[in-house]
Amino acid sequence: MAKYTVTLIPGDGIGPEIADVTRKCIDATGVQIDWDVQHAGVDVMAKEGTPLPDRVLESIRKNKVALKSPITTPVGTGFRSVNVALRKELDLYACVRPCKSYEGVRSRYKNIDLVIVRENTEDLYAGIEFQKGTKEAGEVIEFINKYSPKKIRPDSGVSIKPISVFCSERIVRHAFEYARKYKRKKVTAVHKANIMKFSDGLFLEVAREVAKKYPDIEFDDRIVDNMSMQLVQMPELYDVLVLPNLYGDILSDLCAGLIGGLGVAPGANIGEKGALFEATHGSAPKYKGLNKVNPTAVILSGALMLEHLGETAAAQRLENAVADVIREGKNVTYDMKADKNDPTAVGTKEMGDAIIARMTQLQQR
Ligand code: NAD
Repeated sequence: MAKYTVTLIPGDGIGPEIADVTRKCIDATGVQIDWDVQHAGVDVMAKEGTPLPDRVLESIRKNKVALKSPITTPVGTGFRSVNVALRKELDLYACVRPCKSYEGVRSRYKNIDLVIVRENTEDLYAGIEFQKGTKEAGEVIEFINKYSPKKIRPDSGVSIKPISVFCSERIVRHAFEYARKYKRKKVTAVHKANIMKFSDGLFLEVAREVAKKYPDIEFDDRIVDNMSMQLVQMPELYDVLVLPNLYGDILSDLCAGLIGGLGVAPGANIGEKGALFEATHGSAPKYKGLNKVNPTAVILSGALMLEHLGETAAAQRLENAVADVIREGKNVTYDMKADKNDPTAVGTKEMGDAIIARMTQLQQR
């Protein structure tokens, strides 16, 4: 009998082909996993009338651990993000994204070792919005214009940015606990408290309070625009970054850029009752079904999942195999080649096969 049951969401766009390869790589570590495959996303919307059927949430609630490939979110119109809904519904409040350089990945930077800890449930990202011209938007604008000296124009759409003590406290605590567990030296809170005094200001105030309980770990803070510049100029000054939702989203991509792109940036969404592992990148629909894209980010998310399950040796083996294949540079996808049209680039599946072969070699040593 399998040791664990894990929900596997293959996603859409490039999702299914990457999920397939990742599953094979994880199985090759020898950890016995029963995969509870649950489809969600664009294709499910067409068949079941919702992109996120209840069965998916029920499966994750039951299994407590899920691995997810990317899911498309239509821009502007259409259904709301399934990715955001999953995090909110399951209260997966901490998004942890390690950004680490691997030798052989083409990047302007070397030796990057940063961890993003992003709040996942509130902020402008909470999806509390009022569409221009609706009765609700009109009432919200009227209410705000009554109580605020700054006026909102009547032809506005409105998005709300709530930041609470509760959510700020638990995310900053998560960042410090992470720092302690993985022997990191510093936590930096990122905000725009000089302008948004009652939301980002509150986040910063709470962060300073929580930091006092962790005297063994250095704490500082940066304004998000300054932080963006410093990460590009002096990333070595930083270690663990803790951020509200929207800044966390943006700086995650910036940090993915530092380590060579979205193809290699993994992530975890963690709450009290469950955890969901997924890459930072999206469903890249233009590459769908081409067996072309890089599976590394989802495979490394799988390694984070193994670590979460307590399978540290297997997680390490998988990460080492990925690192070796990338370092060798032979069996890698187009995005890892100097010339994107290099005919020696291999496909998604072939890169997965090389990782499995390397893992087998490591196991036999
Ligand atoms: P994206 O990450 O899907 O793709 C941007 C570009 O990055 C691609 O065109 C490709 O050049 C490159 N890229 C991404 N993943 C790659 C990989 N594995 N290997 C090689 N190159 C890769 O971002 P986007 O185009 O802004 O979004 C596409 C869709 O994905 C949107 O609907 C968006 O909402 C959704 N999305 C989903 C998630 C998620 O599932 N958590 C995250 C981000 C975006």
